[in-house]
Amino acid sequence: MKKILIANRGEIALRIMRTARKMGIPVVAVYSSADRNAPHVRFADEAVLIGPPPSGQSYLRAEKIIETALAKGADAIHPGYGFLSENSAFAALCASNNLTFIGPSAYSIEIMGSKLAAKEAVKHYNIPMVPGVDHSISDEAEARKVAREVGYPVLIKASAGGGGKGMRIVYEESELKEQMERAISEASSAFGDGAVFIEKYITAPRHIEIQVLADQHGNIVYLFERECSVQRRHQKVVEEAPSAVLSPEVRQAMGEAAVKVARAADYLGAGTVEFLVDKDLNFYFLEMNTRLQVEHPVTEMITGLDLVEQQIRIARGEALAFRQEDLRIHGHALELRVYAEDPMNNFLPSVGKLEVYQKPSGENIRLDDGFEEGMEVPIYYDPMISKLCTFGITREAAIKRMLEAIAMYRIEGVATTLPFGKFVCQHPAFTSGDFDTHFVPKYFTPEGIAADGEGEVEVAARLALKLFQQHQATLTIPHPGSPSWGLVR
Ligand code: ADP
Ligand code: ADP
Ligand code: MG
Repeated sequence: MKKILIANRGEIALRIMRTARKMGIPVVAVYSSADRNAPHVRFADEAVLIGPPPSGQSYLRAEKIIETALAKGADAIHPGYGFLSENSAFAALCASNNLTFIGPSAYSIEIMGSKLAAKEAVKHYNIPMVPGVDHSISDEAEARKVAREVGYPVLIKASAGGGGKGMRIVYEESELKEQMERAISEASSAFGDGAVFIEKYITAPRHIEIQVLADQHGNIVYLFERECSVQRRHQKVVEEAPSAVLSPEVRQAMGEAAVKVARAADYLGAGTVEFLVDKDLNFYFLEMNTRLQVEHPVTEMITGLDLVEQQIRIARGEALAFRQEDLRIHGHALELRVYAEDPMNNFLPSVGKLEVYQKPSGENIRLDDGFEEGMEVPIYYDPMISKLCTFGITREAAIKRMLEAIAMYRIEGVATTLPFGKFVCQHPAFTSGDFDTHFVPKYFTPEGIAADGEGEVEVAARLALKLFQQHQATLTIPHPGSPSWGLVR
């Protein structure tokens, strides 16, 4: 591999470039005019403007990106996550232009990109699945029949859905018709595919996923799990590895199931098999993401592996340099997605300028970001500012370090999920490990953050009073035996 074009932006573009540089491979950045001054553009060896801000006219322009790679003499393309990363036509286009797509084949992406095709593919491998139908439903009478069989509540899901979008919970039959119609119309407009299906809505599951790596020589390993149950709008905000609840037996069973899923899809590279896990640690296959995951850093921190390096090695045709039995979990890692969103106002995007942007640093802190002080958070893309990760020998230590890192991180100009992260890390349900995907609706209120803010004011006031008293004591000239004697330094 002589040169890699990175078909992405922001923190993930930078993160991929860092590994490529470490491996001595030059990189080409592409950018939209909104990202003219972005760090990923400056960090790259070469950078090419590919269009105006909207992603449909820039980061999603498959042909333009291929053309740019060929013109710059790149022989490989890394898609990152989002954008073209799960676009099978793009993977095929790379292949037909003799460019290595750093990821699985178009075939694997196509199967796993459709939740229905994925269920179909893994059906014969004895993988537990969420009860429901394995085909698309558009007829109301059939939907009613299926929902009755499955039992309410049910979830109507878009087969092509992603990013937490395209899901509707139905609690009773009277709501079914309307929700079906809405789901179909949403799926058509958001994903260009109106296929929906019905699944049992598991009421209090945990979201636990397995990272896999598959090489071109038939080796597949699992790099243990990540727990991503703290979500808003079915999308992850806080992730950790390992999970606080898995037993070694269940971990192994899930790992082996994930390897089977990868085999069923003829998988290559890094991928993630997502499961829902119930209170009794029964697990059910949800979907497979055929790309590098946003939350991959927590896996890197507990395994000591660089996942982007593994992706590149696999794409070059190298065999994995380790086997399953060589892999161990070391310590505990947490990730907080720092979004430009206002947790006090329903997590609505809060775009604007980063008036103050001071990063936390120090031992056991990793910050993956793509911003600098003074930069705008563009309205065109995902509003994630950074991923703040911490490590500890124990879960408790990683949580403590996260609270310290949050306190060190100063962002002004936009609202962020930093105070939400603090709320989570201090909440007994989270610290005890006894939580599920309903953590946010169950426990989180804006007052929870506000109360915490008041707590801070109170602590500050008490500290000020104490300092004042000490100061007073040093001002009076005490004599031995006076009550303030001990305070003089
Ligand atoms: P992860 O599973 O890696 O945590 P997310 O669900 O947070 O992934 O999505 C990662 C990125 O990919 C986000 O920018 C999200 O908006 C985008 N994304 C994922 N799936 C889709 C999809 N089907 N269509 C559009 N964007 C998607
Ligand atoms: P996406 O492609 O948007 O990531 P997923 O199928 O991975 O969709 O689901 C995203 C989240 O939605 C899960 O992490 C979970 O919180 C919730 N979810 C999905 N399916 C179910 C289900 N059958 N029962 C309960 N919650 C579910
Ligand atoms: Mg998912």
